Amino acid sequence: MSPAGPRLLLIGPPGAGKGTQAQQLSQAFGVPAISTGDIFRHNVAQETPLGLQAKAFMDAGDNVPDSLTNDLITDRLEESDAANGFLLDGYPRTTDQVRHLDDFLAGHNTAMDAVVQLVADPDVVVSRLRKRATEQGRSDDDESVVRHRLEVYQDQTAPLIDLYTQRGLVVAIDGIGDISEVTQRIMSALASVGVTA
Ligand code: AMP
Repeated sequence: MSPAGPRLLLIGPPGAGKGTQAQQLSQAFGVPAISTGDIFRHNVAQETPLGLQAKAFMDAGDNVPDSLTNDLITDRLEESDAANGFLLDGYPRTTDQVRHLDDFLAGHNTAMDAVVQLVADPDVVVSRLRKRATEQGRSDDDESVVRHRLEVYQDQTAPLIDLYTQRGLVVAIDGIGDISEVTQRIMSALASVGVTA
């Protein structure tokens, strides 16, 4: 049997570099990076029923309803590649999603190993997202939508950091710097709480 990899999640404002770091950490730990945003974007592009339901919320910079998001993550986490660890990027985003994830993990006799908080200044993330809008043409990277996504993050997602801090799971990392530098910071912080590749 292959040794179990860690169960991790990345949390931080839009534009903090979660997606980029998720790719790096996924390689380092040999676990799949699971991004609900990527799964939604794929469904929107394919015009699936889920994509058609999610699109208006995404374009407005709002969270997709919890019921849709929770069903999607259950399906994804039940795929075989997630059985021995995973890295969640962009999920959970609300307290309802935390409850859903808790129930899922408890039902599989497991739990999260650590929560990586990527810390980034709002002005820096806005300018990063403006750049990404030009490079990738993401419709939700328009400036007013970006501001709204930051508000949604502050209102609905930032409180989850306190919740996971109370559980002793959070490692906070300065997300500003070269990609490999930030990855190194995360790897050392994780090693210091016993999570090693
Ligand atoms: P992201 O790529 O993580 O920035 O997500 C892009 C968009 O997808 C978000 O602005 C939401 O509309 C939607 N989305 C992604 N993950 C979630 C989630 N966990 N809950 C609700 N909506 C989500």
